[in-house]
Formats: sequence, C-alpha cells, structure tokens
Amino acid sequence: MAEAQNWGNRPTVIFRSQSSRGGRVHRMRRDNNRFFAFASICVLSAALMAAAFQAASPATLPTVPAEQKSELPRVLVFSKTASFRHDSIPDGIQCLRELLSKKFTIDATEDASVFTPTNLARYKVIVFLSTTGNILDTQQEAALEGYIHAGGGFAGIHAAADTEHEWPWYGKLVGAYFLTHPKPQTATVIVESKLHPSSTMLPDRWTRFDEWYVYKDNPRARVQVIAALDDSTIDGANMGGDHPIAWYQEFEGGRSWYTGGGHTKESYAEPLFREHLDGGIRWAAGEAKITLAPAKSAP
Ligand SMILES: [Zn+2]
Repeated sequence: MAEAQNWGNRPTVIFRSQSSRGGRVHRMRRDNNRFFAFASICVLSAALMAAAFQAASPATLPTVPAEQKSELPRVLVFSKTASFRHDSIPDGIQCLRELLSKKFTIDATEDASVFTPTNLARYKVIVFLSTTGNILDTQQEAALEGYIHAGGGFAGIHAAADTEHEWPWYGKLVGAYFLTHPKPQTATVIVESKLHPSSTMLPDRWTRFDEWYVYKDNPRARVQVIAALDDSTIDGANMGGDHPIAWYQEFEGGRSWYTGGGHTKESYAEPLFREHLDGGIRWAAGEAKITLAPAKSAP
C-alpha cells in the first residue's frame, strides 16, 4: 500500500508497484516531493526548537510536582497470617494508605506469590504488617533475601516478630522473635534516640496503650535501639531491665526497621504512633534520613 510504514524508505520505492498509469505515478511522485520538502522543513524546525530548548537556562525548564509524576516509588504492604490474626490489620492498611499515598504507590496483599525477584525489585520498601507464622516458601524467602541484599528496605510492625520462627535469616532481619505478652495495658516507652525519622516527634517518655511484646532475646547488641519499654510501668513484661521495643539496622546491604506497637485498631488512629510509622517506613524506603548528631565543640 501507499502508506509509508517505514519512514526510511524512498517514496519512489513505495509507489513503484502502485500503478502502471504513468500520469498517476508522476503526480504521486510530485506530491511526494512536496511532502518531503514539507517534512524537511518540519524536521529542521524541530531541530532548531530542540537546540533552543537545550540552550535555555535550567531555571526556566518546567518542573513536575512529585504528586503529578506517573511513577511514584512503590510500597508493598504484606499482611498474610498463618497463625494468630489481628483484627487491626485493615485499620493498619488504611492508616498506611493515608500516611504514604501522596509519596508512594501502595500495593497491599496477602498473596505470597508476589515474592519473586522481578516483582520485589519494583519496591522501595516491604512492610510486614502483623504477619504471623510460616507464610513464605523457600523460593519466596530467597526472593526477600535477594531483595534486601540488593539494597531493599524492610519495615516490621508488631507481629512481624511472630513470623517465620523457623527461618533464622528472617529473625536477624526483624531483629528479634516474639516470645509472649501480658494482657494489653497502658505503659511508658522511653525514647532513647530522637535522631531517627520515626522518633524525632516523640516525647522522652511516651505513655500509650498497646499489647507489649516480650522477645525471645534482647536485640540490643544487633540493632540500633530507638525506644525501650520502662518495665516498671508494665504488669508482667519483664525483660531483665532492658526491653527494646522499636529499633533499626543496616542489614546485609538493605535497611530494616521494626516497631513492637500496633496490636490494637486504635493504635492506627493515634497521631504520634502514625508519625512513628510514617518515619520508620520512609526511612526503610531510603526516603528519609537519620539526623546526624551535632558535632561536639572542642573543650
Ligand atoms: Zn498483638
């Protein structure tokens, strides 16, 4: 046909088989010569415009606000449970959508088949929201391990520490495994460092209601502790005088952040707990930085 599918072809080649009537072929060639003259002007104009655009100062270039970019960084929120199931999971997902959806695209799922190397590579951070039990098979575990080794981020909330007890690498990623808990109650959290994006807004002593986990061992030697429970304010949660409850670590090439709070639905409506989650997840995503401590002045 006469339509030039390939713009590199010469017009006479395109029309050679069109017609044996010489006059029509002649007219078509003339029309094509006009077309190519017109096209040449267009190409030349476009080149001149491009050159002018490149010469413009960067300050004059249009900028696209982050909200309008079609491809926001992605967060995977994973809440599969194989043992105890928290009824606060939907509140947690809704909370994370409200906190993060302006800066991230959020995919929430309980389908472990999304744990493939190719799919996980799309995410800045993977959030384990009150997951429980053995929820990944060995290939899915390998995908998460590879994702962290490639610089990915992990954020664990509450029962993320009650997950994959038979997979030691996961225990190191989270920082500690859940052991038990006393009945939910109001207790005081001692905020040890306010340099992390998940704690800059917290008071020195943060008193709130939750179900407070006791861990199988103290993670302090393995992680950077952000906050610890004051066990004297809790009935039945003694961890020998040192009870970390929120922490972070640079881990095998990636980042891991964990908070023990988040058992109750009400947690996800608490302004400070929401800011705590927001900062922790954004740090794990590599989108928020730890404040550097001010240099000590010389004596
Ligand atoms: Zn719980």
